[in-house]
Amino acid sequence: MKKFIPVGEPFISKKEEIYVLQAVRSGWVSSLGPFIKKFEKRFAKYIGSKFGLTVSNGTNALHLALVSLGIKNGDEVIVPDLSFIATANAVSYTGAKPVFVDVYPNTFCIDPNEVDKKINSKTKAIIPVHLYGHPAEMDSIMKIAKELDVWVIEDAAEAHGAEYKGKKVGSIGDIGVFSFYGNKIITTGEGGMLTLNRENIFNRAKFLKDHAMSTTDKYWHPELGFNYRMTNVQAALGMAQLERIETLIRKKRKIFEWYKEGLEGLEGIRLNPETSGMKNVFWMICLIIEERKNLSRDKVIQKLRGNSIDSRPFFKPLSSMPMYKHNKWNNPVASKASKEGLNLPSSAKLGKEEVFSICKIIRKILN
Ligand SMILES: *Cc1c(COP(=O)(O)O)cnc(C)c1O
Repeated sequence: MKKFIPVGEPFISKKEEIYVLQAVRSGWVSSLGPFIKKFEKRFAKYIGSKFGLTVSNGTNALHLALVSLGIKNGDEVIVPDLSFIATANAVSYTGAKPVFVDVYPNTFCIDPNEVDKKINSKTKAIIPVHLYGHPAEMDSIMKIAKELDVWVIEDAAEAHGAEYKGKKVGSIGDIGVFSFYGNKIITTGEGGMLTLNRENIFNRAKFLKDHAMSTTDKYWHPELGFNYRMTNVQAALGMAQLERIETLIRKKRKIFEWYKEGLEGLEGIRLNPETSGMKNVFWMICLIIEERKNLSRDKVIQKLRGNSIDSRPFFKPLSSMPMYKHNKWNNPVASKASKEGLNLPSSAKLGKEEVFSICKIIRKILN
């Protein structure tokens, strides 16, 4: 049996081992300790935001961003129909209603024209998602948000280091949200981060993240808060990853180039796009298989598996989930993409030979 090639796998080096060991040996294993502040500061600087705030995962980062902006029961928040479930669930946790809008057929990111159609007086925020590492169309989103006075939370959980017109994603909207799950661009095991510029919102998020405890009166909690803290050990891992982020992203982009070369000329397929003026970090390699008579996307996944190659289908439309399908949502582009797309092995640990061997097998399956 050939070695199984997973879709995602973290790339951990000696540096990570050293920093983590240092954190463990220091005794600062919970959420106090020097790596937390260092990681927040350095990550915010990398993104181009004034403040960074660590949290326990990306889902909590989204939830904390929403509550810190005052999103609550009765409000509506616009989200793209094609994303990971956390984008919508975080909205539901606040009591607000996620409103699902369609995406662009090429980038799979939220379509600003569709946002325009669904925005109304109840809308309090828009959450563009930089899906699979490609930036959303931020200028149009920011313009709509400004005109109608609604917040913009960028879900950049899959796009650390991606750029929109020279700006890193997560630095453009009111708050940027990141995940450091094991398969993301950089990892802390589980973890997340908020990036933002406004000090009052930063202070509000910091307060709510730690049980809403008074900063002057210990164990006085004037309102309902949360424990969304990251540990110093996680931040140590994150710090080492952050110091290597440029190498990791360069490798991701290289892997995409290898796939492109390896699949060149193959008919009826498409790979990730990269819109001009934007930088895609290719979190996941996307393969779109246009409809064929006897070969569905799921069949391709099955055949790849038979060759010890892991792949996975695109996200399913969020509006199709039992808890959201009560409304008659109609987002044909998201539905189509979710049926045609799959993610190929994308780990920064992949080598050129491995990618070429995957391409050869894809050619055999599709020809
Ligand atoms: C991973 C991810 C999240 C959630 O992050 P977790 O750390 O797994 O909670 C949110 N949004 C998107 C688009 C993601 O891919």
